[in-house]
Order: sequence, then C-alpha cells, then structure tokens
Amino acid sequence: MKCRLEYPLEAPPIGGWRAVAEGVYWLRLPLPFALDHINVWLLKEHQSWTLVDAGVSSPPSRAAWESIITNVLSGWPLRRIVITHFHPDHYGLANWLQQRFGARVCITRTEQDAAARLYACFDEQAGKRIDEFFAGHGLEAERRAQLAARGNFYRPLLAGVASVDEYLTDGSDLQIGDRRGKVIIGRGHSPEQACLYCEEEGWLISGDQILPEISSNISVRPEQPDGDPLADYLDSLARLRCLPADVLVLPSHGSAFRGLHERISALERHHRARLERLRSACSEAPLSATEALPILFRRPLDSYALFFAMGEAIAHLHRLWHAGELSRYRDAQGVYRFTPI
Ligand SMILES: [Zn+2]
Repeated sequence: MKCRLEYPLEAPPIGGWRAVAEGVYWLRLPLPFALDHINVWLLKEHQSWTLVDAGVSSPPSRAAWESIITNVLSGWPLRRIVITHFHPDHYGLANWLQQRFGARVCITRTEQDAAARLYACFDEQAGKRIDEFFAGHGLEAERRAQLAARGNFYRPLLAGVASVDEYLTDGSDLQIGDRRGKVIIGRGHSPEQACLYCEEEGWLISGDQILPEISSNISVRPEQPDGDPLADYLDSLARLRCLPADVLVLPSHGSAFRGLHERISALERHHRARLERLRSACSEAPLSATEALPILFRRPLDSYALFFAMGEAIAHLHRLWHAGELSRYRDAQGVYRFTPI
C-alpha cells in the first residue's frame, strides 16, 4: 500500500502533551540546543505508566516534568522507563526519574555501556580525544581548540547513570498494559537503538532512527574511528521498510507522521546524493573530511554543528572507503585523504 507523508496530529507545545491514541500520550520537552525540543511517549498501563525516553537534564526540562507529574500521571507511578539510546536528550533524566519513582529502566546493553563510558570520561581526556581525531581529518587547530575546550559536554546533560533492570534485544516483547510492544533495533545513528513497534495499535516509536523533517545525524565517532555507521544506518532503514506503510511513526523530533516507506526512500536518496557529491569531488583531487564540509553543508557551522558535521562527513567518506570505491591514506601532514581506487 502506498502512503504519502502526512502529519495527522497537531504537535503539543514545548512543555505540553496530547493524546495520540487510547492510553498513548505525546509529551514535548525543552532542549537547550538549536533543536529545541524532544518528544517522549507515555504509555498507560494498569494504574501505572511506561515512559519511552526521559529528556535532557536541565532546569526547564525538570520543570516540564513537574507539571507532567502533577497533571498527566494522575497519581500513578512511572513503573518502567524505556530508553531508546544513550544520547543525552533521551537518557538525561532517566536516573532522576528512576530514583523518584523506583522505576525499572530498560535499554540495550550497548547503549547503556556507551552512556556509562562517556559519562565517566574526564574533561581533559574527552577534549584530547576530539582534538586528535579531528586533527587526523584535517580540521584546523583553532576550530579543534573550540571543540576541545568544551571537554566532556555529555556529562552535564545527564542526571547520572541509571541502573538497568532489563537489557533490550532485537525482537524483545514488552507487555505494556493490554498491548504488546516489540523492540526493533536500529543502528548507525547510535550503536544499538531500540525502537518500539505496536502492531495491534499501528504505531512505531522510532527514536532518532527515522525523523520526518531532518535527517538523523550519522557520525563516525572518536571511539570507533574506522567505523562505517552509514552502512549500518542504511541496513536498518531497509529493515524498517518491512513495517506497514501506514504505520503511525512517533519520532523523537518533529511531528508524528504516516508515510514510513516514502520517508525511508527520501532518506536513502539524501544519503545517495551526498555520496555522489563526494565521489565526484574525490575524482578531482584527494579529499579530507574537512574539505568535504562545504561540499556537504552549505550553511555556516558553529562549534555545536561542526562536531556533528565532521562526524557526518567522515561517515560518508568511510562508506565509500568501506565499499571499496575510495582508498584512504595519510598525507605528509598526517591527514587522512580519500581518493578513487
Ligand atoms: Zn540521538
């Protein structure tokens, strides 16, 4: 069945909420970034709630939660918190909410390990790792210093590391009130992201695996400097195509939408076009990831955007490298360059 992209529901305001289906609530929490909100999802059980994603740890986000606890939870406890992945806008308040309600926390093992490892990283160590990684991809010292000066910018966005009660795996079934949710693992944006699919009610909580208006960031990270996350991401997108075309997708950013297959096709085209631009630039001269930035991103990049843009440029070059279309070598300055084989 073909289904055009459509947005059937009006989004709640930041700090607000609305019902999506019987016992399914869409909450919108504030974020202190250019991307100013995250959607999290509250699922009614029998006199308790399951929450999917927690929001970032910040005073406005906690204030939004106080209002939700008073006005939406109706005196019922949060019994379970499902965290889709380790990024701070999703994981940030998991530990705070767990302490407050004694909730069980469910997440995949790889995402939990990533959260614990990054949270524990010292500022100096985090800065040095970013500096060395981006130096190897040709980023100028001044711009590297701006990024490194931020130290461990993950830790302040988390209210500690939650203790896990259940590790989720691909295909795990979760009984949530009278409904069943099935975990579908997505890779590439983060290492082992848990999406939650409810076949009987026809919705998919997609985390950041698939977003309606923006493409998910796909980055090679300093912890896995030779990785090929774009291959993982495209594989995961292809798997999501097995879901019904008219499923209601509940994403972490932007609006709930129908038209999953069309959105998957648009994202595949987006990445293919980026790969094509890099293929053609590399055929003219060996290219570094820093030189790829203006080819991929036309807008000016502040230091927040630069971090993600560099990761994304490396991810696209690595896709062509891992596919055997480009070779990678270090030039006389020690910078990785990519050139056709
Ligand atoms: Zn994310």
